[in-house]
Amino acid sequence: MNAGMKINRQWIKTAFILSLIACSPPKNETVNKLTEMEKNNPVYSNTDTSKVDLSDKEWKNILPENVYNIARLKGTERPWSSKYEDFFETGTYYCAACGNPLFKSNAKFESSCGWPSFFEPISKESIIYTPDDSHGMHRTEVQCGRCKAHLGHVFDDGPKPTGLRYCINGVVLDFEKAKKAEKKSGL
Ligand SMILES: [Zn+2]
Repeated sequence: MNAGMKINRQWIKTAFILSLIACSPPKNETVNKLTEMEKNNPVYSNTDTSKVDLSDKEWKNILPENVYNIARLKGTERPWSSKYEDFFETGTYYCAACGNPLFKSNAKFESSCGWPSFFEPISKESIIYTPDDSHGMHRTEVQCGRCKAHLGHVFDDGPKPTGLRYCINGVVLDFEKAKKAEKKSGL
């Protein structure tokens, strides 16, 4: 009898503790709306215009290998390998390294050169131009205006109105369809 009461009391105590836990307010669960890219890359932003200056080692830690190889080591993707080469959806193209808005889809054209091609950037500040005399050629390298990621080159054989052809590695581009892109960047 005594033993039974003891167990009973123990059970009531446990039930009381459980009820306290059940009634405690739920943990404040903040909804994480960051994309995969933003979670792994602290400098990634479609709206922050402040310059990004990281060491190669820091970039290596936060960028996917294929993006790092082109953005930081100035590599070139194989022609006709980009999903954006033959791609004409309406939206905005961002730097895959830092999220900086680079090109609008209405500046993209079918160049048949094997890489995504644009005739003008979103703004003057979105791109940096640097002479590139490597590989026995005189070319103009284009880099992201915010993080200096290597994007590709610009040539003067593009269509009107600019006559320019920004020949860009698709690996260093992020694309967002019009509605979402406009909402995020206000462009
Ligand atoms: Zn960038």
